[in-house]
Amino acid sequence: MNRRNVLKATINLPLALAGLSSESVFAQSEPSKLRGALSRVRPGDRNWPSAPEWEKLKQAVGGRLLMPLSPFASCQARPDSDVCRGALQQIKNPFYIGDEVALTQTSGWADAWISQPSAYAVAATNTPDVVAAVNFARIHNLRLVVKGGGHSYQGTSQAPDSLLIWTRHINAIELHDAFVGRGCEGRQAPQPAVSVGAGAMWIDAYDAVTTQGGRYVQGGGCTTVGVAGLIQSGGFGSFSKNYGCAAAGLIEAEIVTADGQVRIANAYQHADLFWALKGGGGGSLGVITRLTLRTRDLPDTVGGVSGAIKASSDEAYRELIARAIKFYKTALFNRHWGEQMSFGQYTLKIDMVFQGLEQQEAEKIWAPFLEWVRGSGAYSLPSEVQISTMPARHAWDAQFLKRNTPGDTVPDARPGASDLRFLWSGDQGQVGQFLYGYQSAWLPSGLLAENRQPDLAEALFAGSRQRKIALHLNKGLAGAPPDEIAAARNTAMNPAVLDAFALAICGGGGPPAYAGLPGEGPNLALARDAAAKIDLAMKALLRIAPDSGAYVSESNYFQSNWQKAFWGTNYVKLQAVKNRYDPEGLFYMWHGVGSEAWSADGFTRL
Ligand SMILES: Cc1cc2nc3c(=O)[nH]c(=O)nc-3n(C[C@H](O)[C@H](O)[C@H](O)COP(=O)(O)OP(=O)(O)OC[C@H]3O[C@@H](n4cnc5c(N)ncnc54)[C@H](O)[C@@H]3O)c2cc1C
Repeated sequence: MNRRNVLKATINLPLALAGLSSESVFAQSEPSKLRGALSRVRPGDRNWPSAPEWEKLKQAVGGRLLMPLSPFASCQARPDSDVCRGALQQIKNPFYIGDEVALTQTSGWADAWISQPSAYAVAATNTPDVVAAVNFARIHNLRLVVKGGGHSYQGTSQAPDSLLIWTRHINAIELHDAFVGRGCEGRQAPQPAVSVGAGAMWIDAYDAVTTQGGRYVQGGGCTTVGVAGLIQSGGFGSFSKNYGCAAAGLIEAEIVTADGQVRIANAYQHADLFWALKGGGGGSLGVITRLTLRTRDLPDTVGGVSGAIKASSDEAYRELIARAIKFYKTALFNRHWGEQMSFGQYTLKIDMVFQGLEQQEAEKIWAPFLEWVRGSGAYSLPSEVQISTMPARHAWDAQFLKRNTPGDTVPDARPGASDLRFLWSGDQGQVGQFLYGYQSAWLPSGLLAENRQPDLAEALFAGSRQRKIALHLNKGLAGAPPDEIAAARNTAMNPAVLDAFALAICGGGGPPAYAGLPGEGPNLALARDAAAKIDLAMKALLRIAPDSGAYVSESNYFQSNWQKAFWGTNYVKLQAVKNRYDPEGLFYMWHGVGSEAWSADGFTRL
């Protein structure tokens, strides 16, 4: 279906079906140049704001209006300049990239997008800065974009010729013993919680909540991902099989909507918006400035199992995959276990984590499978399978990890950088990467039934001949406690997540390819070849799980039927919320809610 047809179809969706009012929250008298406009303005256009108008915005935001320039911009022309050499030294440091207003954590995607700075950026430090920027963009009919941690694979936190609202510096964190949402007094039990500025990274939340506070908050796996981007994705961390998706832990959000109003959204105020923020995709509904998330008791222990098992023949690999699936179903398909098993190059790679089990319990669980592997003679262990544990209090404690598992973490190596922060070394390869392809699919738990296991094993075998496939076993909620599944049901995510035992991910990329870097740029022939293999690998899985759906934030830029894939039956309701809070489409992102109404660059209403 082409974009116009989708538009027609979605415009006609009956809002009553979604149980929502179609009434816009915009005041009738709201002045806006956007109303009825077909095209947003670009620099050089007659209606582009004048220098005095930009100056007025600058005054309104305390001088924090920037003209972003990539630190790599001059590298081709002057590779020996201090700016360029300094930037090249930090090109694999995600903390550095996150601190650069002109950069994004992914440098682009072959044949899809390339990271480009905005024309102007408001480096917001507070909610009034965000209000001023939203009003300015609406009144002047600008393309508006929001960036937090900058991790969007789809490039949705960058757009050339736009005004950027950069939330990096809205990052205060406050712990609460007994939080009640605004207007929820008497209706919501007080609960321990944490309020986090929208631009904070998860590592800062984990440091405050776990290392300092001795509690648990459900966030993401990658430490440098932004809090607001992840919550609006749905969001999974290593232990989501026990604590559910991150969005389900949201108690309240402060958000600036397209009309420039600051709204508090929770279960009793703007409940429709609150629901949509939980997994409806970042950047479509407004600018979140603060999130309050529930915190939980910490388990005593967390642990990991890692290693690699290599098969010596097709037959042995088929058997290994089949045994791994059976072992997962019988021993690991429960709230204790998360993270990954991956399949490629005749190898089963194990990168699993667990919580709430002691080391001996974990060893006992794995013993039968490992005994079979070691006893069979058809397998080698290029990396011995190791099981280890640590007190959960230290799970994100940078100094403890540096001392005890030094290979697992990478510090922010810049002089004077915080020593409370680190990146998992497993995420290092993704920093600044130029993506060749990336796809995901939620695999329904029915595939673990005894009579479906052979199909799953064969699909993994066939797919892994093309490209490595990773099963992220923490990114599907089948096997989680029932109340966590119920909480996730009350989010905007594709309900397919509730019955998925894993999110299958297949992707790949090459070195950073920011514009201006020395060299010939990305190898597009290699990229397209990899993309084709990724496609074939995923097709092998989709043959046995045709309606699986995909995780909005870890998915294919070229995803077909994306509304259904990302949100399933929730898309109708999401559109109604979008129409209510942003009827004129100020907030646009690629494959975001309501984006059918706009050209791919978000500049032209179709
Ligand atoms: C290396 C890497 C590892 C990842 N690991 C995980 C993982 O373990 N688990 C998981 O669930 N996901 C993971 N993701 C996906 C990640 O959760 C999403 O890409 C998330 O949206 C990133 O948020 P961000 O703020 O860092 O990115 P950004 O690119 O800044 O934002 C992402 C989207 O949200 C919007 N947005 C950001 N801030 C706001 C705000 N304040 N208000 C409104 N909209 C906003 C942006 O406009 C953009 O559309 C990973 C991604 C990468 C690149």
